[in-house]
Amino acid sequence: MTYFAGVDIGSTAIKITVITSKAQIVAHTITPTGSLFHQNSTLAFHELLEKHDLHRNEINYVVSTGYGRKLYRDADECISEITANAVGAGKSGENNGSVRTIINIGGQDLKVIRLDEQGQVVNFAMNDKCAAGTGRFLEMAARNLEVEVDGLGEYHARLQGVPSTINSTCTVFAESEIIGLLAKGESKEEIIAGIHFSIARRVARLVRRLGVEEAVFFDGGPALNKGLVAAIEDELMCELFVPEVPQLTVAYGAALLAREAFGDRGEQKSVA
Ligand code: ADP
Repeated sequence: MTYFAGVDIGSTAIKITVITSKAQIVAHTITPTGSLFHQNSTLAFHELLEKHDLHRNEINYVVSTGYGRKLYRDADECISEITANAVGAGKSGENNGSVRTIINIGGQDLKVIRLDEQGQVVNFAMNDKCAAGTGRFLEMAARNLEVEVDGLGEYHARLQGVPSTINSTCTVFAESEIIGLLAKGESKEEIIAGIHFSIARRVARLVRRLGVEEAVFFDGGPALNKGLVAAIEDELMCELFVPEVPQLTVAYGAALLAREAFGDRGEQKSVA
């Protein structure tokens, strides 16, 4: 068999997908990035192959992407996560109409990517200067509220009253604001929904800068949070398409580009 791999080295997690020549995912892993980007990616790749009884020489081409892509030395090629995200989202969302807008929230950044009818990137906007509106912001909130990050969506779903007002976009100020709201007796449900709406407003502002066009695809780890999804849908007044494993879209896109680079007849050509 012929396989291709995409290695997405994010600020928080390393994601790897192995696909067949028919673009089917046969193996994937999600593991913390840590500080040793090359070593941790190499180990994660090795363990993934071993678990699925695959050999490294069966993987014909490897494309790395993400924040730490240049530090992973075993890839055949590295590409930007904007390109990989566009390709991965285009393919994952193809049954839901053509994807024209991608919202990606990662551990440390927030991106919006606009695509044309052919799935080519026409524009993108990004916030990677501060943690506001990113996974890090949600992690900080969860820690202060003594809730697991994967439980935030359930608190939001249990909201009875009105979401709290969170004015601070800066993580440091938001942290004291959350503690102040707890002291005033506001419930965790209200505060968490308030946090989701504050991120959603930030996301919506960035999306509107590029113009909202459907279908809108939402990926990255925080897309697992159904409360955040509902808040963004509310702010944008449109439905979001969230893939089953939203952390994997970028690695999947990189694997698809690896397949493309290898060429239909097994000839090697560059994707850069
Ligand atoms: P990166 O690509 O920057 O490493 P990811 O797309 O892997 O980022 O997203 C990481 C973020 O996803 C974490 O900061 C966390 O907030 C969020 N996250 C991870 N798992 C879950 C989950 N099960 N439910 C909700 N949020 C999650």
